[in-house]
Amino acid sequence: MKPSEKTERPPVVTIMGHIDHGKSTLLDSIRKTNVVDKEAGGITQHLSAYEVIHRGKDGVDHRITFLDTPGHEAFGAIRIRGARVADVGVLVVSAEDGVKPQTLEALKVLRSDKVPFVIAINKIDRPGADVERTKQNLAENDMYVEGFGGDIPWAAISAKTGEGVPELLDLILLSAEILELTGDTSMPAEGIIIESNMDARKGITATAIIKDGTLRRGEFAICGKSISPLRIVEDFLGKPIETAVFSSPVRIIGWDIPPAVGERFVCVADKKEALALVSKFVEASSSQTSKTETESEKYVIPLILKADTSGSLDALVYEIAKLENERIIPKIVLSGLGPISENDIRTAQTSGNALVIGFHTKSDTKAESLALRSGIAVHTFDIIYKLTEWLVGALEERTPRVETEETTGTAKILKFFSKNKDKQVIGGRVESGEIVSGEQIKIIRRDTEIGRGRIRELQMQKDKVGRVEEGKEFGTMIESKIEIAPGDKIECFALVQK
Ligand code: GDP
Repeated sequence: MKPSEKTERPPVVTIMGHIDHGKSTLLDSIRKTNVVDKEAGGITQHLSAYEVIHRGKDGVDHRITFLDTPGHEAFGAIRIRGARVADVGVLVVSAEDGVKPQTLEALKVLRSDKVPFVIAINKIDRPGADVERTKQNLAENDMYVEGFGGDIPWAAISAKTGEGVPELLDLILLSAEILELTGDTSMPAEGIIIESNMDARKGITATAIIKDGTLRRGEFAICGKSISPLRIVEDFLGKPIETAVFSSPVRIIGWDIPPAVGERFVCVADKKEALALVSKFVEASSSQTSKTETESEKYVIPLILKADTSGSLDALVYEIAKLENERIIPKIVLSGLGPISENDIRTAQTSGNALVIGFHTKSDTKAESLALRSGIAVHTFDIIYKLTEWLVGALEERTPRVETEETTGTAKILKFFSKNKDKQVIGGRVESGEIVSGEQIKIIRRDTEIGRGRIRELQMQKDKVGRVEEGKEFGTMIESKIEIAPGDKIECFALVQK
């Protein structure tokens, strides 16, 4: 590749931050103001990315691509696939609320992926907004902005009124300039799939961000095992296009199988070359030894998951993986795009009554009647956090109960009074916690448990009591096969279901 063919490449930007801090409002505001093709502005845009023009401080028009992914969850999923789609990040922080858990989560992602970012202190039009306090709060959370002990570029904005947004775009361009992003338009296109959909009319479509080169109609796109002729290619406004260059989002229609979100795609000139690449990929992936999963003691809870787009499916897989804990693993035994089918319900029946979950999708009629007949419940959701919230409860319900012994107190045996068959009367003093009438005990001699029993009666100064606290002396009748002697300890415990 001749270095002279390299030219400046526009940045691809992701907006992250805590829920409700204004990510969508900012994306909308930039889209409304900076998308050039106003005529197409009214068209509902379904691509999860768009392109804008911003006139920089240099007086030149610059292109910027924004990823419009459903929140940071999806970004996490893309990240997990090992792809870095964004060149620059914008971390939105509300000037009213300051740093919140998802702000920190986003920060972690940005830092671990080494994505340079700018901070947008948002909602400055609100009466409760306090930019200085927000900067202080950012610093307390290890984000030092310019002029406040650090070098993170920042802008005070109102996503609602548009105030400060041009300055934010200037900062994004500045960050991109420092990165010296370049691309080569003479090369065939390559990039990353950010979304794939099953469309009833159009077939399998995918949204991709071109990271280098030029995409031309008539060529072929390949992503893993998936292949698509570049016959129908649209820009982010849904307009058919002949070519597209780096950093542009495009929709490629006509894949044979849905390409995986977060995967790299490449373009080649003809079908023969495309097929050769696919078979190379298949060979490479089948020769990989399958990972042996470490046997786990954990209880597996099977899930069947259907979603409308592979973007949301990926986001869900990512979120669901986070619900594994020391007792259970939620395991997705079947997942896919489109409505919940008869086969999904049948699989649920045969895989330990898997939980059947639909995201932005419903059961088809056959599945619905089979589910009814077989008593399999289907749960559908439109919002990721609602789904996970519900799932946390559902998993909890399915987690097998285990009984654990919780020590309530220990006592030292001071006197042995009498014994009648299994019942013995002794005296002692509580050393820690409390001894409770009716509870079970362990009898400990020289730090070893020698037997068990139960407290049948408890007295303090000849009065019957329910419990005796630390430091107090007591008399008790214990039922046990083991003879207790002065010097022994008893540990009183309760059985707790968890
Ligand atoms: P997201 O969850 O981060 O995408 O947040 P949204 O963009 O949905 O915003 C959450 C709420 O805050 C909505 O009601 C917005 O109208 C409001 N909001 C967002 N930005 C601003 C702003 O700059 N000023 C004001 N007053 N409200 C805002």
